[in-house]
Amino acid sequence: MIESINTYRLQHTLEESFGFSQWHYDTRNNLIVEIVDDSGAVGWGECYGPAAITQCAIDTFYAPLLMGCDPLKNEALWQHCWRASLDFAMKGPMMGAISGLDMALLDLKGKLLGVSVSELMGGRVRDEVPCYATGMYFRNQPKADLLQTILEEASGYVELGFEALKIKIGKNMLFDKELIVLMRERFPAVRLMADSNHAYDLPEAVEIGTLLAEHDYKWFEEPLSPAHPQRFRQLADKVDIPIATGECEQTRFGFQTLLQTGGVQIAQPDLAYCGGPTEALKIRTVASSLGINCVPHCWGTQLNLASAVHFLASAYVEPGRAEVSEPLLEKDLTPNPMRDEMFAVAIQAENGCVKVPTTPGLGVEPSRTVMEKFCVQKTEKKNGR
Ligand code: MG
Repeated sequence: MIESINTYRLQHTLEESFGFSQWHYDTRNNLIVEIVDDSGAVGWGECYGPAAITQCAIDTFYAPLLMGCDPLKNEALWQHCWRASLDFAMKGPMMGAISGLDMALLDLKGKLLGVSVSELMGGRVRDEVPCYATGMYFRNQPKADLLQTILEEASGYVELGFEALKIKIGKNMLFDKELIVLMRERFPAVRLMADSNHAYDLPEAVEIGTLLAEHDYKWFEEPLSPAHPQRFRQLADKVDIPIATGECEQTRFGFQTLLQTGGVQIAQPDLAYCGGPTEALKIRTVASSLGINCVPHCWGTQLNLASAVHFLASAYVEPGRAEVSEPLLEKDLTPNPMRDEMFAVAIQAENGCVKVPTTPGLGVEPSRTVMEKFCVQKTEKKNGR
């Protein structure tokens, strides 16, 4: 029986801001969810999105709905939350709140049953997951310096053993083109991907997509606004590179609309935002029915990272063959001490690869003492109060 649901809003001010096509980050923010049952067992989750809003949504709206419920019935509890907010919150931060609760319930369920989350997701088909490095964001530097900074950062990841790198583009067309070419010249044998975070209109996306294809990039991420799903098909008809998108999308219903356009080859649900890890399994089924693979968007702390690792560990690759191309985990390497210093049990990448945790639940555990240092607001909801 669920006895309490607590949230921790965490914040860290960065020493140096970093940016992408839409804005610059000067703080890192995370919302952590803790669900405790009457045996004292604890499940942890996190929400992607505006932390103060998801915190309020959990504390005032969803937590009271879940008090006293059986945490093993995670599917039923998801439906309970979904129906309670269907009239006004089919998408957006409320779904982000449901996602963190779902993640915490899955962690708790795994611990109560003594199995890992990948076993709850159908079982592991691989014990290790190769990663690609996410980083190489923009800094407040003149163009020549910034290009140099990005190339040096990329070299560091290659030296650490990463065989795949994703760069940020969408700054401006001239800069983007120069970066795309320079990265390929510097790293001829590395798998490269590029992410514009929905920065381009269709003619610009065609121009950049063509250049990426000429330089053997493996995917073009969020080339276009998520507001116009049909445009992805128009782009796919004009460029010869797989299109990846989905970090702004939520639920199996949203992904069905997006993927049915036929323009997206790689679906990227964020497990802390799309509706949670169990909803991500449904998104995977929708994607599978259309012959599309899911490669989660992954940002935040070890909880979202572990969720993505279990998700990929249990993923079959469409269409399947004896020697498949292994799906890649997004390993965010931008500065975040709440990911790198706050967990007593954490997932580490070695030679560009992570081992899938086999302990019950997600297999990562935050340290309460370290978490306190980053916590700017905590909420507590107890059964009966
Ligand atoms: Mg992205």
